Amino acid sequence: MTNSIAKFENVIIIGGGPAGLAAALYTARAGLKPLMFAGSPPGGQLMLTSEVENYPGFESILGPELIQKYRTHVQKFGVRILDQNITKVLFNKSPFTLDTVENSYQAKAVIIATGAKALWLGLENETRLRGKGVSACATCDGFFFKNKVVAVVGGGDTAMEEALTLTKFASKVHLIHRRDQFRASKIMQERVLKNPKIEVLYNTVITDVSGENRVEGVKLRSIKIDSGQARMTKSSHDDSRILKVDGLFLAIGHKPDTDIFLNHLELDSKGYIVTSGRLALELAKLKIKNEKFKITIENTKIEEIKNKFDFNYNSSTNISGVFAAGDCVDFVYKQAGIASGMGIAAALEVEKYLETYESRPKNA
Ligand SMILES: Cc1cc2nc3c(=O)[nH]c(=O)nc-3n(C[C@H](O)[C@H](O)[C@H](O)COP(=O)(O)OP(=O)(O)OC[C@H]3O[C@@H](n4cnc5c(N)ncnc54)[C@H](O)[C@@H]3O)c2cc1C
Repeated sequence: MTNSIAKFENVIIIGGGPAGLAAALYTARAGLKPLMFAGSPPGGQLMLTSEVENYPGFESILGPELIQKYRTHVQKFGVRILDQNITKVLFNKSPFTLDTVENSYQAKAVIIATGAKALWLGLENETRLRGKGVSACATCDGFFFKNKVVAVVGGGDTAMEEALTLTKFASKVHLIHRRDQFRASKIMQERVLKNPKIEVLYNTVITDVSGENRVEGVKLRSIKIDSGQARMTKSSHDDSRILKVDGLFLAIGHKPDTDIFLNHLELDSKGYIVTSGRLALELAKLKIKNEKFKITIENTKIEEIKNKFDFNYNSSTNISGVFAAGDCVDFVYKQAGIASGMGIAAALEVEKYLETYESRPKNA
């Protein structure tokens, strides 16, 4: 329940991960006095990991420590951080309205940096062993598995990418998939199947992960997916077995945290926020008409929505004055450094946008 309309802000940032924090830093140093809703719990995906070794400037730092340093840094420049969630937005006229459970806020510009969540299997010991061998990011954590044996779960392009990335480090990669064939593109499947380090286990599910302080193995069971009925049936005999591995990588997808923007902003079919930068790339691919380029937004949708976007800004959503950055937009790289960079770009664009705010139309 909202009970009051609070102050009129220049810019409100939704999200307190690397993208939101970087946007906060730049907007604060530009004198825009940003208000940041860091979410509850705050900090984003890096709070779920241990060592981060690929964030430029830090040889090795714990994920939560990096976020804490970032928060201290932005607070030094006066950023007001509220560890609360925005529960509702109204973007049909400017200033925009954003609600928390208790209050209502208004802002001339908004930067959305709500990130994404990696999907986990929900195994009994999975959470306990996260950062101790259980991961959802081969680019981030593959390096820690030099000459080790790992398992990857999934059957789409991401799983193929993760398995291939891991072959650069691990001595062996077991790719575990519950169906009898992959969903991934043919070319990715071919690369995986040709790689001597990858062994595929079809019709197999992981029922738990084991290990005291680190992953030591995964418990497997054979299954048969009855695709005609889209039902899962157990194999006739219980063949539960342990596969010894040092790491388990989940590659079963990500879900962008964008539910509150549904019907308020253009989202793609997976829920990622469409920005003008991404749309421009899709339009260019359509124009070049080369089948090698994968189009990620349906052709008809691209044509339908393109006039809603302001292509003077890369990070603009279809609502002028609402910008987006980080993993809620980036369905490709999903890295903290990239999220930070996108947050910086959005902040610089907000600065430009606000220079001409007074002369702009206020209805979307
Ligand atoms: C296990 C794991 C390990 C990783 N390791 C690495 C690594 O080593 N190196 C690397 O570069 N990357 C790593 N990544 C990826 C990296 O964490 C992400 O790319 C990065 O955190 C994305 O930043 P973001 O700010 O876009 O989103 P997030 O980090 O997801 O942050 C989103 C923020 O938005 C908040 N939020 C969501 N909804 C709302 C709302 N309605 N109101 C207010 N706030 C909201 C959340 O609470 C959170 O604070 C890892 C990811 C995982 C899952």
